[in-house]
Amino acid sequence: MIDGPANSAPSRRGLIIAIDGPAGAGKSTVARHLAERFGLLNLETGAMYRAFALKAQRSAVAVDDAVALSQLAAETTLALEPQPDGNRVLLDGQDVTALLRSPAVTDAASRVSVHPQIRAWMVRRQQELGSRGGVVMEGRDIGTVVFPHADVKIFLDASPEVRGQRRFEQTGTTASQHTHLPDEVAKELRARDERDRNRAISPLRPAEDAVILDSTYLTLAEVLDHAEAIVREALAR
Ligand code: C5P
Repeated sequence: MIDGPANSAPSRRGLIIAIDGPAGAGKSTVARHLAERFGLLNLETGAMYRAFALKAQRSAVAVDDAVALSQLAAETTLALEPQPDGNRVLLDGQDVTALLRSPAVTDAASRVSVHPQIRAWMVRRQQELGSRGGVVMEGRDIGTVVFPHADVKIFLDASPEVRGQRRFEQTGTTASQHTHLPDEVAKELRARDERDRNRAISPLRPAEDAVILDSTYLTLAEVLDHAEAIVREALAR
């Protein structure tokens, strides 16, 4: 665990809500909703991995070259600017938000995120971004590694079939991604999940004190209600 102000006791900073879970479980929607409801900033850590993957692509650095990726990280700046509809992502000062959802960047993000040095760098940056609290941070390792003392931890899950279908419906709205069939989307999700769950360092898993919210059989409104109730209950304690 990395020591520092980011891991200080909850009473010394604003509220921190950690939302983790596999791809397509609805983390962003829940995070945005909670941020709005409780007046918090929503920080999407996946966007940071995506932006760094884009930088690796642009710099022709292979996603399995840990040494070169570490060197690249040392000369990279990443910033997130929360907006009502998601995060604006600045890579070395340039807004790359619109470039981060392509299948190639998505796949590369999943691959650069297995390297311990890259994760350590990301975790430090994420702890800085959230150190004052007042944030909903979503990702894969927020409740376990980035903010193990988060005030509220939600692990959002859903069956692979449902996640695949939801993701297909989301991405199918843009012309460039119509080429992806539901099967392909499901396959890509499964591959990313597998990598996230089985990597050696900070694999995707619920923190011991996380509340597990399985949205497989819930409507969106129900998921948001449940998530809000989890936060209210934690705040009341
Ligand atoms: O959440 P999103 O799908 O944008 O994340 C892209 C990739 O970044 C994930 O597939 C995962 O491998 C990686 N990631 C991670 N840890 C986080 C957030 C994202 O490893 N906290």
